[in-house]
Amino acid sequence: MASRSLDDLHPLLAQAYRRARDEYHQKYPQRPQPFVTCTYRSQEEQKALHAQGRLPLTEINQLRNAAGMTPIGASEGQKRVTNASPGQSAHNYRPALAFDVAFITTDQRVDWNPQLFALFAPLVLAVAGTEWGGAWTSFQDSPHFQLRDWRTYLNASRPRTREAIAATEEPLHEIENFNPERTEELAEAPPTALRSQQ
Ligand SMILES: [Zn+2]
Repeated sequence: MASRSLDDLHPLLAQAYRRARDEYHQKYPQRPQPFVTCTYRSQEEQKALHAQGRLPLTEINQLRNAAGMTPIGASEGQKRVTNASPGQSAHNYRPALAFDVAFITTDQRVDWNPQLFALFAPLVLAVAGTEWGGAWTSFQDSPHFQLRDWRTYLNASRPRTREAIAATEEPLHEIENFNPERTEELAEAPPTALRSQQ
């Protein structure tokens, strides 16, 4: 199962999400509120998602079954939901270097209104080094947020040369000196009807 826990998310992103969520709640208390639909996603799950729109339904559901996911129907099976094959998504690493959100109404319905993502995104992007999939042109992915240049963070525990640090766009000391706050409980949200993205 894919994780929705902020414990599985890179601390910088977890902090960016919490700040954005709290600010959003203050600014738009009457609107549907954000919740996390995915942080870490295994390579097996990524493989099954990547197969959507590319392989026959029976093969997709075999892959989903192997990844511990529930089967999908024919129409969903024809829909491409990601261009990322296993390992190419920022979700496929632990801690995850991406998270997805959706919104929930007061009567517990999941809301995918693009307007809500457009309101939420600037609050995340206020944290340096973050990137929004809704701004992509080739495969727009509004629920998706990630660390810009996330590949440079994959071997963060490995000692880096001065040159390697200078070569990255974002100052690494911000990440390395980051002090994660205590993890709160995730807001409860329905595990159903969660869209899959990159
Ligand atoms: Zn995503």
